[in-house]
Amino acid sequence: MSETIIGIDLGTTNSEVAVIRDGRPQVLDVDGGPILPSVVGLADDGSLLVGRAARNQYALYPERTVRSVKRRMGEDVQLAMGGQSYSPQEISALILKRLKAAAEAHLGEPVHKAVITVPAYFSDAQRQATRDAGELAGLEVVRIINEPTAAALAYEVDAKAARTILVYDLGGGTFDCSVVRAGGEVTEVLASHGNNHLGGDDFDAKLIMHVLEHLRTEHDCDASDDRAAMARLARACEAAKIALSDAPYARIDEEYLLPDHDPPVNLSLEIDRETYEEMIEGWIDETLEAVHTALKGAELTVADIDEVLLVGGATRTPLIQQRLEQTLGMQPRAEMDPDLCVAAGAAIQAGVIAGEATTAVLVDVTPYTFGTSAVAEMNGALYPHCFVPLIRKNSPIPTVKSEAFQTMTDGQAAVDVRVYQGEDRDALNNTLIGSFRVEGLSDVPAGNIVVLRFELDLDGILKVTATEKRTGHEKHIAIDNATARFEAEELEAAKGRLAALMADEAEILDETLAPGAARPQEEQREVVQARALLEKAERLLETAGVEDKDDLVDLSETVRDALDAGDMPKLGPAVASLSDLIYYLET
Ligand code: AMP
Repeated sequence: MSETIIGIDLGTTNSEVAVIRDGRPQVLDVDGGPILPSVVGLADDGSLLVGRAARNQYALYPERTVRSVKRRMGEDVQLAMGGQSYSPQEISALILKRLKAAAEAHLGEPVHKAVITVPAYFSDAQRQATRDAGELAGLEVVRIINEPTAAALAYEVDAKAARTILVYDLGGGTFDCSVVRAGGEVTEVLASHGNNHLGGDDFDAKLIMHVLEHLRTEHDCDASDDRAAMARLARACEAAKIALSDAPYARIDEEYLLPDHDPPVNLSLEIDRETYEEMIEGWIDETLEAVHTALKGAELTVADIDEVLLVGGATRTPLIQQRLEQTLGMQPRAEMDPDLCVAAGAAIQAGVIAGEATTAVLVDVTPYTFGTSAVAEMNGALYPHCFVPLIRKNSPIPTVKSEAFQTMTDGQAAVDVRVYQGEDRDALNNTLIGSFRVEGLSDVPAGNIVVLRFELDLDGILKVTATEKRTGHEKHIAIDNATARFEAEELEAAKGRLAALMADEAEILDETLAPGAARPQEEQREVVQARALLEKAERLLETAGVEDKDDLVDLSETVRDALDAGDMPKLGPAVASLSDLIYYLET
C-alpha cells in the first residue's frame, strides 16, 4: 500500500484534515469534531492549547492567545504569546502538528506528507511560509494547491467537460471569490478577488453591537468593558447567527450576564432574521461587487459561468444564497459541507499524488425543492399562490428549515397550509403534496405570526409543523416518501402540462407575451443576460471603431435605462439589438 498523504485546509478561522479512505475523502475528527479552530494559546499553567480550548480563552486572555495567524503568513513579524514571541510559521506549525497527530491516531501509522491549501491570491512568500510551517510540524508539503481548486476537485467538477466555475468562499474572517476553469486534467484559477478582512466574524460583531445597544437602552448598563461578559456575548451571538440560517427567530438568553451590576443583568433578547439581514446586507453587496471584479479579471461575464460553488461556513446564510441566485441567475451548489469541502479536495489531490483511485463524495441531497404558498407580490400585483421555498433542491439531508408567515386579516382564526414540491414561482405550477388547516388562532389583529417548520429526514419523510408564535399552538403533518414518491406524480403533472400546452398553444403564447405577464424566472434570466451584455459591450468599447462605439453606447444606454426602470417590455428588444451588434462586432 502506498504511503498515506493527508490533505489539509489550513484556514484563517478553522482548519481541517482529510484522507482518502476506500476511495473517498473523509474529513477526520480532530477536536471533538472535524473542525479545529485555528487558534493557539497558553493556559494558566503555561501548557499549550490548540483549537477550541484556545479559542474559548481568547476573549479572556488575548495576551496569551493567537488567532488568525494565517493573515500574518509570509510577514517578517514576531507574534507575542504569553511573554514569548513566535513567528507566524511556528504558530501555524502548532496547528498543523495537531492535525497530523489526529490523522496518525485515526490511521494508526505515522504520517509524513501533506497537501496543504492556500488562498489563490497567496504570494510566493506566503506559500513558502506555509511550506516552512509544514516542515516545522514534521510534514513534507508535497503540494500546495489553491483553495478554489480544491473546492472544484471536491465537487468533481473537472470530471466533466470544460466548465467555468465561480467559487464563492466566505469564511469566518476572509472572503474570496475565484473564477476557476476546470476540464480534463487541468484546473486553473483564472482570477481571484476578495477581502481579507470580511467574514462571518463581522456578522457576529454586528449582532454584538445590537445586543450592547439593547443592554444600554433596556438595562441601562454597558457590557463592553467586561471581558467575561463580552466572551459570553461573542459565543451567544455566533450561536444566534447560526440559528438564524435555519429559523426566522433566534433568542439570546444569558442569565447573570453582569452579576455585579445593580440589579444583576439577565439578558433575554429575540432577534428576527429580517433585522439581522439588514445588518449584514452592506457586506453582501460588497461580496457581489467582488464577484463582478473577479469576472472582469478573467475577462468573462456572468453568462459564461457554468456553476457556482459555495465554500466557507458563512455561505450557509440564506441571504447570501438568495442574492447570488438573483445576481447570477442560477442556484449555487451547496450539497457539500462548505466547511469541509476544501479539506476533502486537498485529500483528493493527495490521493492522486499517492496514486490512489478516488471517487466522488456521496452525500444525500433532496432532488426537489419543498415549500408552501403565500400571498405576495408577483408581477407588481398581490397574488395568493406565490411559492415560498423552505428546503431547496440539492440541500444535504437530513435538514430542518423554518420561516415566519403572517395572518392577513384581523381576528383570522385559521390558516390553510399547503405543501408543494417544485421550482416554479407560481405554486399552482408545482405539485401539491399535502395540506392542512390550523384552527383556533388567537383573536388578534392581522400580522399574527405563524412559523412553518419543514423537517426532511434521510428516509424522505417530510414533517411540516405550523406553530402560532405567540401561543405555541401547533399542528403538523408527515408526508411519507416525499423525495421519491413524487417522481411519478411529477411526471404525470408534467404530462398534463404538456398536453394543455399543445391543446392550447396560441392561448398560452398570448398569456406569455402579454405585457407584465412574463414569468419571473424568465425576467430574471433576461436581467442577468442584459447585465452580461453590458459588461461585454463595455469591453468592446476599447477596441471598437468610432461609429460602432457610438452605437454601442446608445444601445447600452437603452438597455441600462430599461433595467433601471424595471421596464421588461422595453428591455427585451433593447437586449436583442445590443446582442446583435455585439455578435456583429465579435465576428
Ligand atoms: P470557516 O472559516 O469556513 O470555517 O467559516 C466559519 C464561519 O462560518 C464562522 O463565522 C461561523 O460562525 C460561520 N458559520 C458556520 N455555520 C454557519 C451557519 N449555519 N450560518 C451562518 N454562519 C455560519
